[in-house]
Amino acid sequence: MQVFGRIYDQLLAEGTVVPRQVHVPPSLPSRDLLCMVHDTEYVEAFCSGSLDEQRMRRIGFGETTRSHVLIDRTLAEVAGTLLTAELALAHGLACNTAGGTHHAFRDYGSGFCILNDLAVTAELLLRQGRVQRVLILDLDVHQGDGTAHIFSGRQDVFTLSVHAERNFPARKQSSHLDIALPDGTADAEYLRVVAEVLTGVLQEFRPDLVLYDAGVDPHAGDALGRLALSDDGLRRRELLVGGDAHRGWAWWGLNMLRTCHVSGSVAS
Ligand SMILES: [Zn+2]
Repeated sequence: MQVFGRIYDQLLAEGTVVPRQVHVPPSLPSRDLLCMVHDTEYVEAFCSGSLDEQRMRRIGFGETTRSHVLIDRTLAEVAGTLLTAELALAHGLACNTAGGTHHAFRDYGSGFCILNDLAVTAELLLRQGRVQRVLILDLDVHQGDGTAHIFSGRQDVFTLSVHAERNFPARKQSSHLDIALPDGTADAEYLRVVAEVLTGVLQEFRPDLVLYDAGVDPHAGDALGRLALSDDGLRRRELLVGGDAHRGWAWWGLNMLRTCHVSGSVAS
């Protein structure tokens, strides 16, 4: 959990951001807001610290799941992504140092993800009529199964996941478009694939907003990742996504966030 604070410190220390560019959510999301995409019983059980053993095990945090620290942190991640989207709509680009909890389903969490901040944010902005089409671009090394399931069959949300074929989750869901990469895929092939599919989806779907789950776990240094990107490969990926998504669209949101497995490459 310390990773989020360390990312914040690193960004300030290296001058990537200055303090006036840092925003803190003014409040935590209401349960009604969370229930736009999550089951009411699940939200109530988690928020009241009474989640059952089976669902706690599936999330992976054990007894900590019932602690106020984790409950508040989880809610703050959702609040952060909501604020990030607001800032992206106002300024064109914004990043969240946390969130991207794409393994969270409607009525259970999985893979260290409890509430799906991406889904809550997309759903709210669509219901408010602020946007008509949202692309959820998931380049974490693990498939965005919770997000895919929540938005299955929807026409106003497009879920695109580029992930390692043999990685978690074992049972994949169907995104609007899934690209499953073989073990060991490295910079050149990875970047070629991302460029090709992203260009096609942007041209066809024409989103008003892109929520980007920028997992760094495709990095070769991630022991559980199975892919082989270098530092430079990840850097080029962000430039590629930023350039393609920004070009020709009025707004786009960049959720620069990490989710399940924390990689040593975060601070590199
Ligand atoms: Zn991951």
